[in-house]
Amino acid sequence: MSVKLFIQPIGFNDRSTLHWLAEELRRRFPVSLDVRISLWPIGLDYLDVFDWSRMQFKAVRVNEVLQELYKDVLGLRGSFVLGLVAGDGYVEGLNFVFGLAIPELSTATVYTSRLETGDRQLYHLRVLKEAMHELGHLLGLGHCPNRRCVMSFSNSISEVDFKEPWFCPVCVSKLKSFIGV
Ligand SMILES: [Zn+2]
Ligand SMILES: [Zn+2]
Repeated sequence: MSVKLFIQPIGFNDRSTLHWLAEELRRRFPVSLDVRISLWPIGLDYLDVFDWSRMQFKAVRVNEVLQELYKDVLGLRGSFVLGLVAGDGYVEGLNFVFGLAIPELSTATVYTSRLETGDRQLYHLRVLKEAMHELGHLLGLGHCPNRRCVMSFSNSISEVDFKEPWFCPVCVSKLKSFIGV
């Protein structure tokens, strides 16, 4: 099965980062990935998906909106949507999330505001790692005990920086067996 990934920018206008991300995902995923970037960024701040008292996106709602928006293509096996959100997100019970994957909806999101830094290369790496991590969840991977593996759980930006933008051998073989290659 080849995996088709749609990247949907949400309030995110940095096209060069989007194109870099798409290229790196293609290169680093151990299974063949067909990546498409939406030409139209969308804003979701006017909906019930943004919590104005916390100034954060409700991550579950963002994934639900993406699922609704892409329901025609998500009906096809092996199709997924990754939302790249310029902002911060949370889920009930957590102060924030770097990203959220909901495999049942075939959608994932990454929130970039906590990944930002003056060092553009570092920022790109952080976005890439979080995108790989959430995509890994969409494809069936859980959290990995290897702290260097991109599927390791990150609770802080230093933990994001500690892990590598690669899947460890255990996660690679799981991914391949999920996809059937
Ligand atoms: Zn995770
Ligand atoms: Zn791993």
